[in-house]
Amino acid sequence: RFSTAAAVQELITPQVQISYTQHLINGKFVDAASGKTFPAYDPRSGEVIAYVAEGDAEDINRAVSAARKAFDEGPWPKMTAYERSRILLRFADLVEKHSNELAALETWNNGKPFEQALMSELPMFVRLFHYYAGWADKIHGLTVPGDGNYHIQVLHEPIGVAGQIIPWNFPLLMFAWKVGPALACGNTIVLKTAEQTPLTALYVAQLLHEAGLPPGVLNVVSGYGPTAGAPLVAHMDVDKLAFTGSTETGKVVLELAARSNLKPVTLELGGKSPFIVFDDADVDKAVELAHFALFFNQGQCCCAGSRTFVHERIYDEFLEKAKARAMRRIVGDPFKKGVEQGPQIDVEQFEKVLRYIRSGKESNATLECGGARIGSKGFFIEPTVFSNVKDDMLIAQDEIFGPVQSILKFKDIDEVIKRANETRYGLAAGVFTKNGDTANRMMRALKVGTVWINCFDVFDAAIPFGGYKMSGIGREKGIYSLNNYLQVKAVVSPLKNPAW
Ligand code: NAD
Repeated sequence: RFSTAAAVQELITPQVQISYTQHLINGKFVDAASGKTFPAYDPRSGEVIAYVAEGDAEDINRAVSAARKAFDEGPWPKMTAYERSRILLRFADLVEKHSNELAALETWNNGKPFEQALMSELPMFVRLFHYYAGWADKIHGLTVPGDGNYHIQVLHEPIGVAGQIIPWNFPLLMFAWKVGPALACGNTIVLKTAEQTPLTALYVAQLLHEAGLPPGVLNVVSGYGPTAGAPLVAHMDVDKLAFTGSTETGKVVLELAARSNLKPVTLELGGKSPFIVFDDADVDKAVELAHFALFFNQGQCCCAGSRTFVHERIYDEFLEKAKARAMRRIVGDPFKKGVEQGPQIDVEQFEKVLRYIRSGKESNATLECGGARIGSKGFFIEPTVFSNVKDDMLIAQDEIFGPVQSILKFKDIDEVIKRANETRYGLAAGVFTKNGDTANRMMRALKVGTVWINCFDVFDAAIPFGGYKMSGIGREKGIYSLNNYLQVKAVVSPLKNPAW
């Protein structure tokens, strides 16, 4: 996917203006109730690019009332499923038409390579909406046999008002993963975007209305976690909560949901995913895939292959080549052609990653390359590789969420299974081997939500995604997301009703 050739370094000028900075409530762009705004930044420079409405409990109240009304009285859950599907399809087409502007806005506010946003994330966004538009008119219940002369139906109904909180690493894709299935099932939504990346969600939400979405069905509120996210989680009129972000915040969310109205919660949280290379592997290919598994999206992926386990027989060769690959990685302005890595999202994440690099050095892991900031402007970090990493080091235990590869040595399959599973997380794993028996054994032994064998980061609309252990609760995408947004109602009636 990434070219190792020298970058052409030609600037792709972002052709986009920031048109939407207010909340979108009940189909209208409105200021925050308090009148407050907060800055959105360009991580290439740390400069402010827009001031965005800053939501708090009052904005959340207004958005939830609009969503409640649209669900209880509005046309959305009463429309035919086919009509809902048509709106989602029209929306996907509009997004496709606006792909260039959307990718530019995503890069401007997030720092990810423009080519990645345009050629990978926008098509995936469109594909997800096509997929869920296809589901809208295929959601149906069951009839089940029971003891006695009863007719028993099981209805699948929309759950109601869904609260959704998304992170900053894939602002558009996280919108699609959450909004697509919720709308296909006939729910209404209040979405709280990450404070770092409020802009593209507002843009696509506007397109969704252009495609015919009735007012109040999707409401988007920008703002910070404790002041806008928490009131949404705790709201008594929200029927379901879906969250993606850190494990630490996920625990707060679960507790707030339980203390309010016990709304069901799905959580997609952090990870410390192993990428395991066996000694039968083609080392060049393994190096490239392990590199991609960790460094993709500036290392800011919940499922990043952040513990690279390498068999001792190929360890030295792998290490030398992994280091060389990291040193060839093209870091720079994400609007330039061929650039593989842009800046980290913000100053907090930038400093956090540098702290982990210091911790790696202090704990006597060997710094093979990188380890420092690039330039003096923006949040760029050198692609960094540590070798001689031990399981108990902080860099092998915590989610770094940055371009820092940790390479660990192993001797045999039993040992690596045990070590790979010895983590509080369980989101994903990569296995690299030519041996079918090894692959079969690993796929069953790893306690994770996704195992990629001889591939990594393959995301398809139909593949479920989510974590074991502290990586989360529930699954998103595919058929599994539908269950998150449906209530199940059993209806029982006598076959021969005495009342008739
Ligand atoms: P975070 O969990 O604090 O933020 C994610 C979302 O939750 C944002 O929209 C935020 O506003 C909201 N939020 C924060 N506090 C909240 C609260 N009390 N109630 C309700 N919502 C709240 O994550 P972060 O601070 O942006 O990043 C911290 C770390 O989280 C990262 O370093 C990384 O390790 C991890 N992270 C993981 C993912 C993922 O996809 N799993 C995404 C982003 C960050």
